[in-house]
Amino acid sequence: MEAVAEVGGSYAELSQTFRSRRTRSVAWRKAQLQAILKLLHDHEVQIFDALHQDLRKHPVESFRDEIGVVLKSANYSLSCVEKWMAPKKVPIPLLFFPSKGEVFPEPFGLVLIFSSWNFPISLSLEPLIGAISAGNTVILKPSDLAPACSSFLAKTIPLYLDSNAVKVIEGGMDIAEKLLQQKWDKIFFTGSPQVGRIVMSAAAKHLTPVTLELGGKCPTILDSLPNPSDIKVAAKRIAGGKWGPCNGQACIGIDYVLVEDRIASALIESLKKNINRFYGENVNNLENLSRIVNKQHFDRLRNLLDDPSVAASIVHGGSLDEKNLMIEPTILLNPPLDAEIMTEEIFGPLLPIITLNNIQESIEFLNSRPKPLAIYAFTKDETFKKQILTETSSGSVIFNDVMVQFVCDTLPFGGVGQSGFGRYHGKYSFDTFSHEKAVLQRSFFPELEPRYPPWNDFKMQF
Ligand code: NAD
Repeated sequence: MEAVAEVGGSYAELSQTFRSRRTRSVAWRKAQLQAILKLLHDHEVQIFDALHQDLRKHPVESFRDEIGVVLKSANYSLSCVEKWMAPKKVPIPLLFFPSKGEVFPEPFGLVLIFSSWNFPISLSLEPLIGAISAGNTVILKPSDLAPACSSFLAKTIPLYLDSNAVKVIEGGMDIAEKLLQQKWDKIFFTGSPQVGRIVMSAAAKHLTPVTLELGGKCPTILDSLPNPSDIKVAAKRIAGGKWGPCNGQACIGIDYVLVEDRIASALIESLKKNINRFYGENVNNLENLSRIVNKQHFDRLRNLLDDPSVAASIVHGGSLDEKNLMIEPTILLNPPLDAEIMTEEIFGPLLPIITLNNIQESIEFLNSRPKPLAIYAFTKDETFKKQILTETSSGSVIFNDVMVQFVCDTLPFGGVGQSGFGRYHGKYSFDTFSHEKAVLQRSFFPELEPRYPPWNDFKMQF
């Protein structure tokens, strides 16, 4: 109840801060970015602990996926924000001579950020970096499914950042709903398509612009690479990407693999070797794999395997450890395409491999399904690459690697269709949280009379 009451008070305080105009100065923006850097440096160990409590992430994984990426982004924004803020001159058509045109970025105002539980630190701080770089005031609502990280953010952010301008409100659905009743100038949401729809309809009431960073089923296409060593590299990257970051609980994680019949067994053998090498031989190895976030998600994944025809397709793994919320890295060969494992986002350590007679069939396969957040394709065939680029649609396409796009700040990160819309990271984050105001400066001379009535045939000629 206390938190629900907090929503109104925080909102009023943020409005007042934004009206004070102090968040617009470059000094304020840089100070907030520096504060994020200092927070991360001062609290590395506490962040490792919180991530271990919520997801049992290993500190190396936590540093790579949650601290390192944010340090990089905050440093990048710090070095560029002044340049991004500057008005940009635009060429003006001769008709407007003499005039000066520019695009003038201004902050939206009051921003609401919802983040997800799978990368609870980076998916909270990454959009926050964009919002403050653009000069907004912010309420961040972390996911209640990662309570240790949510509590860490709520306790530390006010100690480092301007607490009248950036607030963290913890809570579940009741708080989310209360927050959505307010009139925001921008909502940035990371989560499922189902909740994305709720957020978008709440935003529609106030005509609030939204960015929806959603999920879906990201495919990996493995072409029949003639060189066996290339297949080995692909299998290694697939094994590292599928089970490495948060044990498959990742929006850009690999959902399934498409491969020609003739190399499926080589791929499976190579994946098994890498699984054993990276994560150990059995499910009892709890060191190198994050756990499933909670019992509800564990049961959801168990149900996917409960279908007898799906269970029959398991070619590796499949054991479950409910006490430790652990599911072994599991490979399935050709589960039925109408089973839930192939129709719903898996978001866990299960990897279906679907075989095709010819890899070209993958294009039609993808086009008959919702647009994914990412398509990964291992191929050296330039014609096939072009075909993937021009004949399919997805948030991103990565050739010959997986998941690395998240850390490439010069590329926009975001979805299309059911995987969301809007984009962020680097300059794209700044743009996402800014309104680009069009400014045209005219002079008082010359004055062209044909633009004014009364209309006549002579004026028609202009
Ligand atoms: P979710 O949609 O359940 O929750 C996301 C956020 O919405 C949380 O902060 C949650 O508290 C809030 N929320 C939950 N119910 C709500 C409601 N009724 N009204 C308003 N807000 C509500 O998603 P999740 O379980 O946290 O994350 C998993 C999903 O997110 C997957 O689909 C995944 O692919 C996607 N995801 C996308 C990205 C991306 O960058 N595109 C990143 C991570 C996760």
